[in-house]
Amino acid sequence: MTQTPSQSNPSTKTPILRLKNVTKTYRNGTQALRNLNFDIYPGDFYLLTGASGSGKSTLLKLLYGEDRPTEGDIWVDNIHLNPLKGNKLAHLRRRLGIVFQDYKLLPRRTVAENITFVLWAQGYGRSEIDRRLPPALKMVGLLHKAESFPEELSGGEQQRVSIARAIVATPPILLADEPTGNLDPDNSRQILNILKQLNKIGITIVMSTHDESLIRASDLPILQLTNGQLSRVNR
Ligand code: ADP
Repeated sequence: MTQTPSQSNPSTKTPILRLKNVTKTYRNGTQALRNLNFDIYPGDFYLLTGASGSGKSTLLKLLYGEDRPTEGDIWVDNIHLNPLKGNKLAHLRRRLGIVFQDYKLLPRRTVAENITFVLWAQGYGRSEIDRRLPPALKMVGLLHKAESFPEELSGGEQQRVSIARAIVATPPILLADEPTGNLDPDNSRQILNILKQLNKIGITIVMSTHDESLIRASDLPILQLTNGQLSRVNR
């Protein structure tokens, strides 16, 4: 399947994520992705589904430049990702917020420090950091936990911190790799609702999941990976 799915009207917008003939073959010979072609437009929110091993993480890793395609080309926000390295790649990554299944919080840092660390690293000043932190915490309902440490939080709260960290620098794109994979149904729904709110304010989102009940309960468009091939699911 090599079609070009889109929620929006392609004639009026430029894609914010574009894959052209993308194939990924790992060194051991595993072909994780086969000739993917698709465009995602500003404001889209896709669920990326597929069985374990179907290529979801591989696809997201290619989109945030953690790994490179064996063949084909990727554009993020109109920038050709393939040739980027070092500072240029780091700079492009600022256009992407990333959320992982296992939160990846710094255990010895408070919630506030975890969220603002990325801003320090990007050279933001104190006043700008102080201005950005409260709305990010508020968006995920954790203003009251700013001074807590990750181990003092539930899994759902930790994932909400990682979402706040992902959006505090206001990236236009959010990539979430199985963000509800470690959470119970209530917390999973809460995470999905937060992501929907973020999408409403304009952030383009691709979220991978193999949680069937979450997929059924949401009306979001679905991109399905099957043995490394991508198709848009009609429902
Ligand atoms: P998913 O996220 O859908 O579970 P992955 O993208 O992790 O799928 O994996 C897709 C395929 O690529 C699987 O067959 C997996 O075993 C393989 N794979 C993933 N990472 C590597 C790697 N670093 N080296 C070799 N094979 C890999």
